[in-house]
Amino acid sequence: MLDLLFPVRCSGCDRPTGDPVLRLCFVCRRFLVQPPLPWTNLKPDVGPQELRIFSLWSYERFGPARSLQHRLKYGGETSLGRRLGFLLADAILNDMNVSRHCVYLVPVPIHPVRRRERGYNQAEIIAEGFAARLDLVVRTDMIARTRLAGSQVGTDRTERRQNLSGAFTPVCSLSECKGSAFLIDDVLTTGSTLNAAAQALHLSGLKIAGGATIFRRTPEY
Ligand SMILES: [Zn+2]
Repeated sequence: MLDLLFPVRCSGCDRPTGDPVLRLCFVCRRFLVQPPLPWTNLKPDVGPQELRIFSLWSYERFGPARSLQHRLKYGGETSLGRRLGFLLADAILNDMNVSRHCVYLVPVPIHPVRRRERGYNQAEIIAEGFAARLDLVVRTDMIARTRLAGSQVGTDRTERRQNLSGAFTPVCSLSECKGSAFLIDDVLTTGSTLNAAAQALHLSGLKIAGGATIFRRTPEY
């Protein structure tokens, strides 16, 4: 009855929608598309020779992906984050059997100061949804973000890489970390963040099975 009086509105175009979590109508939903190449191969300076990252949707500067990302990061919509994690796990199942290759799901950490400001880490929320779908364990105690990165808007790939090298540090001792890890983050842009996180995991002695993000964003220079 309340739904009839106050229907949920699409966050993209304000039409009524029956999905209170995603809050996208069927028209806007169609603008969420898989990237032309859903897998991106990154090459960390240290650690695995190749880091394969799967992304669910292309990020466009305008449109529903941008609004979802904003709500996920700043809107405190944790149920949205879990739903996106669930959808990400569903999509990746078509490509690889993650559960067979990976033991730990490791969300890319944010700095404790950011976490206090925001109240949560969006990558962790996505990982919770992903883990629920595939029956995996989320570990937030394996690596920590030790440096508060400044705004990365406008910096190029090399600068980003330099900003981030050493931004993460391993937390678990080698004896505790057996098995392999699968990284989760909200957005893949240049790959610098995921590379740096993978390097810290590598220093823990963990194998890295790859990673996944909700969005694949083309770097803007
Ligand atoms: Zn819409």
